[in-house]
Amino acid sequence: MDRFISNYEELQRSKTKTFRGHLRNIALTGLSLAASEQYLNKPRVQFLYIHHVFKDEERRLDVLLKRLSKHHQFISYNDAVNKVLTGAIDKAYITFSSDDGFRNNLHAAEILNEYDAKACFFINPGIVGEADFNKIKKYCKDILEFPPVEFLNWDEVTQLQQWGHEIGSHTMMHMNIAKATTEAITDDMHETYRILNERCGNVKHFAFPYGRFFHFSAVGRKAVFDAGFLTCATAERGCHINPVAAITGEELCIRRDHTVLGWDINHIMYFLINNAKNVSINNNFYPDSFK
Ligand SMILES: [Zn+2]
Repeated sequence: MDRFISNYEELQRSKTKTFRGHLRNIALTGLSLAASEQYLNKPRVQFLYIHHVFKDEERRLDVLLKRLSKHHQFISYNDAVNKVLTGAIDKAYITFSSDDGFRNNLHAAEILNEYDAKACFFINPGIVGEADFNKIKKYCKDILEFPPVEFLNWDEVTQLQQWGHEIGSHTMMHMNIAKATTEAITDDMHETYRILNERCGNVKHFAFPYGRFFHFSAVGRKAVFDAGFLTCATAERGCHINPVAAITGEELCIRRDHTVLGWDINHIMYFLINNAKNVSINNNFYPDSFK
């Protein structure tokens, strides 16, 4: 594709639909019919990760926020983290975040603003403000496996902050930490920490690219905190309840549910209900392989 995409429908067309995906959809419809929303009232913190809000997804974000607001109080990422760390979860909370710094984050933020919902945007300083279409196209294809999309520039990052949203790090150029050398990881962590703190001030949060445990490592985890970040997030499903005693940011393994607004809203709700139903104190911690 030789231009930026601006609609979810275009993204769908760029992907091949699989029979497995179709079956999964049918199964989810069945499961979501049986799921009871009463679980959503359970005191907990749910971190939600919305990757993109294309033009044709904006209304869906509004619908989702309306639905979620029935059961949850929306809080900032920083407040959400502190609730978990200090064991101060007294009702159902949701916080929002997004990775990769797509330019459409700006529209997402405007809709979130209407609900006074403050999100954290995890960005890659190496691509912020990039204007060369071919460079962007290559980055999207090789690293994100995505058609070409526009990215935020630094003024827009500042705009997000002025609206009260937070900025977090997602490495310089979307590094797959599981495959990188210790030296490369350490350098990247320090560089992104320095650049983001210079540009944005007081950047505390980190989310590792690709988000699944197999994209991360014990070395990566150590490097995140050595560089100065206070928290680290995955994109592994789950939510959080109070730990038995206060825990540190280094101990906390933040779980975030990846959500695509193009999905059936009942399927999105099903995932959240399932998280609430099955939540365990162990969700707060890393698997043993990261210790
Ligand atoms: Zn990412």
